[in-house]
Amino acid sequence: MAATVIDGKAFAAKVRGLVGEQVSKLKADHGIIPGLAVVLVGDDPASQVYVKSKGKMTVEVGMKSVEHRMNSDVSEADLLAMVQSLNDDPTIHGILVQLPLPDHLNSDLVINSIDPAKDVDGFHISNVGLLGTGQKAMVPCTPLGSLMMLRDHLGSLSGLNAVVIGRSNIVGKPMAQLLLGDSCTVTIAHSRTKDLAEVVRRADIVVAAVGRSQMVPGDWIKPGATVIDVGINRIDKPEGGTRLVGDVEYESCAAVAGAITPVPGGVGPMTIACLLANTVTACCRVNNLVEPKGLTA
Ligand code: NDP
Repeated sequence: MAATVIDGKAFAAKVRGLVGEQVSKLKADHGIIPGLAVVLVGDDPASQVYVKSKGKMTVEVGMKSVEHRMNSDVSEADLLAMVQSLNDDPTIHGILVQLPLPDHLNSDLVINSIDPAKDVDGFHISNVGLLGTGQKAMVPCTPLGSLMMLRDHLGSLSGLNAVVIGRSNIVGKPMAQLLLGDSCTVTIAHSRTKDLAEVVRRADIVVAAVGRSQMVPGDWIKPGATVIDVGINRIDKPEGGTRLVGDVEYESCAAVAGAITPVPGGVGPMTIACLLANTVTACCRVNNLVEPKGLTA
């Protein structure tokens, strides 16, 4: 039987709807408008596209959107001063410094200069520690979106075998922590993993976050497993032009899996929706208000 396609685009629209409702409530009941500031250094075209669509969706859900563009040769001191001014600004509840930063800037230093309570990307070392110890954290957006889709599709994840392929700080590791938090038995695979095929075949849940186009074939997938494809890879089309594909071979995996996220239209749209969700959550937390249900881990 063909796999259920987990429609990330539709799910993201639902999450944005919930965020919008929460924003309206914050305005009506407390006179508060959640604000998200994005800092973009340099003119990387992909980053510009992301930042533009983040700004558009922030405004669409009724939040304040602020964008600061800085030249690619900005000094670290000036960038840190910009972050500090946003930390001090009470109308800003979420701060995102678009990565990657140019080589002369220390990304860890910059990210760790963000107020952890406003760190809506969840990359600050304090949030990494809070997530790792099962405490209330700001959770990285892509893993959070993936978790939301898994919970929505499977209900309880307790006791399931989950294999996360990839151990990056922004996707693989936080994803594994979230799955552990939901009582999965978690394996983190990476480039040194021996017999990856056998490891993946044991999984009820496969999360592929590798960055290698279509590297997971269908015969690695346990029948009925749920496959979350985080990868975004651009490949050439035989007839010319390019197209986006994930880290799993969609057709062969969809023939075996119970459910699968497509690329595009799977995890990608959920990432921005979760950024907006995190901003509302941050706003509620700083104002000691009840957090919205269904928007956090
Ligand atoms: P990284 O390059 O930081 O990490 C890739 C991971 O994959 C590493 O841990 C690496 O292992 C592992 N890996 C590489 N080759 C293999 C292999 N042959 N077998 C097993 N593991 C392997 O990537 P990211 O985590 O940042 O991103 C992963 C993918 O997700 C990319 O395609 C990226 O574009 C996409 N992405 C999508 C987002 C979305 O919104 N949908 C958001 C963020 C990322 P090792 O550590 O040993 O080198």
